[in-house]
Amino acid sequence: MTPLPWPLDPPPLFKDLLVEPEEARSILRPQKDERYGFGFALSPYRGCAHGCRYCYVREYPNALHPPEDWGGWVAPKLNAPELLWSQRHRLHNARVFMASATDPYQPLERQYRLSRRCLEVLLLCPTTEVIVHTRSPLVLQDLELLRAFGDRLSVGLSIPTDDDTVRQIVEPHAPPIPSRWAAVERLAAAGIQVTIGVAPLLAVHDPPAFARRAKASGASGAWVGGLRLLKQDPFYKMLADHGWLKVLDPDYAETIRSAFRRVFPSRKRVREGPASCPVPQAMVMATQPGLFDRVG
Ligand code: SF4
Repeated sequence: MTPLPWPLDPPPLFKDLLVEPEEARSILRPQKDERYGFGFALSPYRGCAHGCRYCYVREYPNALHPPEDWGGWVAPKLNAPELLWSQRHRLHNARVFMASATDPYQPLERQYRLSRRCLEVLLLCPTTEVIVHTRSPLVLQDLELLRAFGDRLSVGLSIPTDDDTVRQIVEPHAPPIPSRWAAVERLAAAGIQVTIGVAPLLAVHDPPAFARRAKASGASGAWVGGLRLLKQDPFYKMLADHGWLKVLDPDYAETIRSAFRRVFPSRKRVREGPASCPVPQAMVMATQPGLFDRVG
C-alpha cells in the first residue's frame, strides 16, 4: 500500500472544514437486502465536504454534528485500509460499494488517500467486485489503479442535472458538471466501465441533449434516481423557491428516463436507481444490481 506521511496537516484549501480524523471500529457494512447489488458498503470517511443540500446522510445517527453543519466536517477513518485488510476474508466473491454515506473522492482524498489505499487492498482480493461512486473528477488521480481491476470494477459518476447553474445552488461544494463529463470521458477512454447516475434527479434543461451527452461521453449506461426528502426537509422549500418541484413528480422522472432510453436502447442500461448518491438502504436495491451488468 502507498506509504503516507503522518501526521497530516489540513491544507489551506480546507481551513474552514472541520477535519476530525478517527480510528474506525468497523469498515464493512453488510447489506442485508438480497436485492441489493452488492454485499458491503465501504466508506473511508464519515461526513462529506461536498455538503449537497439534499443529502439525507446529514441526519444519520452516527453523524458527528447537527444536520445544519453538514458539509462543514469530515472524519477521515485513518485505519480504514488496515481494517479492510484485516477483514479481507469476508470479501470472497463479494461486491463492495464505495461509498455509501460519503463521497470517496471528496477533496480530502487528495491528501489522505484513504479511498486509494482501500482500493489497493481490494485489488488484492481477486474475487471481489467493486463499484466506486463519486461526483468528483478527483477519481482520475487513481486512473491506473482503477484500470488494474479490469472488468471487476465499475465507476459511477453522479450527474443529476445538465445545468451547472442548478448544481451551483444545490451542490455548491461539489465539482462543476462539465468537469464530471470530462472525468467520464477520461475513464471510458481508459477502458473503465462508467455509469451515469442521474441522481438525485434535479431540474434538467434539455433532456434529449442531456442523454445524448451521456452517450457521447462513453458511458456504458445510466440510471435515474429520484429525490429522497427527509421529514420537514428544508430542501423542499429550496425546490419550491426555484420552481423545481417538478423533480418530485414520477412523470418527470419518467420523461428523463425515456430520453436516456432512446440513446441507451437496452432497457437494462437505463434503470431506475438509488434516490441519491449515498445509496439508501431499502428502496433502491431492486434496481441497483445492474451496475455490474456487462453491457455493450
Ligand atoms: S450526496 Fe454524496 S456527495 Fe453529496 S454530500 Fe451526500 S455523500 Fe456527499
